[in-house]
Amino acid sequence: MSDLRPVPTREECAALDAADPLAGLREEFLLPEGVLYLDGNSLGALPRRAPERVREMVEQEWGHGLIRSWNDAGWYGMPRRLGARLSPMLGAAPGQVVVCDSTSVNLFKVLSAALRLRPGRRTVLAENAAFPTDLYITEGVTGVFDGARSVLLPSAADLDDHLGEDVAAVVLSHVDYRTGELLDMAAVTERVHRAGALMIWDVCHTAGALPVEFDRCQVDFAVGCGYKYLNGGPGAPAFLYVAERHQADARQPLSGWFGHARPFAFEPGYEPVDGVGRFLTGTPPLLGMAALDASLDVWEKVDLQAVRTKSLALTDLFMDLVEPLGLPVVTPRQQTLRGSQVALRHPDGYAVVQALIERGVIGDFRAPDLIRFGFTPLYLSYTDVWDSARHLAEVLETGEWREERFTRRGAVT
Ligand SMILES: *Cc1c(COP(=O)(O)O)cnc(C)c1O
Repeated sequence: MSDLRPVPTREECAALDAADPLAGLREEFLLPEGVLYLDGNSLGALPRRAPERVREMVEQEWGHGLIRSWNDAGWYGMPRRLGARLSPMLGAAPGQVVVCDSTSVNLFKVLSAALRLRPGRRTVLAENAAFPTDLYITEGVTGVFDGARSVLLPSAADLDDHLGEDVAAVVLSHVDYRTGELLDMAAVTERVHRAGALMIWDVCHTAGALPVEFDRCQVDFAVGCGYKYLNGGPGAPAFLYVAERHQADARQPLSGWFGHARPFAFEPGYEPVDGVGRFLTGTPPLLGMAALDASLDVWEKVDLQAVRTKSLALTDLFMDLVEPLGLPVVTPRQQTLRGSQVALRHPDGYAVVQALIERGVIGDFRAPDLIRFGFTPLYLSYTDVWDSARHLAEVLETGEWREERFTRRGAVT
């Protein structure tokens, strides 16, 4: 054993809960009785105020206000207004973030804009182990730019070997969706800039999990989703960031009317509006925006640094508790190198996760053999973590995961 940390007792965890400054935030969420929810990195929990906010939009703004609500209820401004609410969590000064579309679509837009901003360069670097949609979109974008190509790095650590003079942009995830590994945003962005390329960060597993500083790190573009740690609801609209210094020159190809300088002039030619609004495309999904708006009410009360501190304590605790089980832990032990999840390797990981779910412990499985647990400090306690680790130990000790019913797979894993 490298270090012999004493494993905390359940009573010690209860004492940590009693002293937890974030403990009261659990009241802001509606979670089913008897569920230990360790999948907030896939779909965040339901904020208590979201049903009411969505109902208000449906019944009042839509049902009563009808078309008038575009002005009277502020519908038109929602992509920018929600972007402004998110900005402090991203370390972004006002006017650089909008909420719109999905992460995939937003990546298409910002990567296309980045290639246009580096006309002499045609290579996009991405990481082989990236979330696949990022790679698919990168293929899609390079496919519509003459001579463009993507090069997949074996790992982000190989970046320097590939940062040549033809590289226009680099797309990387700040936190790896499988391993939970966290990259150094400032250092990587600086290396990319030194090579004359633009940096695009995917912060799907960062936003709401830990603070970031886009402006201070000189990030060029970023994309992220609203339904994971942000708790915006299933299929919540995503967001994108475009650094102010690029906005005047940046052009994106999904040039719909919501990004036009005068959408209601109904002119035949496209002229992008000033600012980050030119990255909007069409009519926003307002019901999804309402749910995300309600989740941002919760975030407004929260110090993200305190969230990070508790997240690290929860992930440390879980790793300490599961270490004796002997499953390889793929998430870095060092705090500065991980996000807010812990992934363990097990050859029958899928069945183990199903057995846990039957016990009310909801984690998830990522092919080929990863059991993944997300830790969300707003609604998880230290005793929840202790109990979850106990269930995992029991599932493995009893071998109950071997039961046939745990091997059947649904469409979504
Ligand atoms: C969840 C996730 C996405 C999801 O993209 P959608 O367009 O919302 O489906 C993209 N990238 C990463 C890194 C993710 O974790």
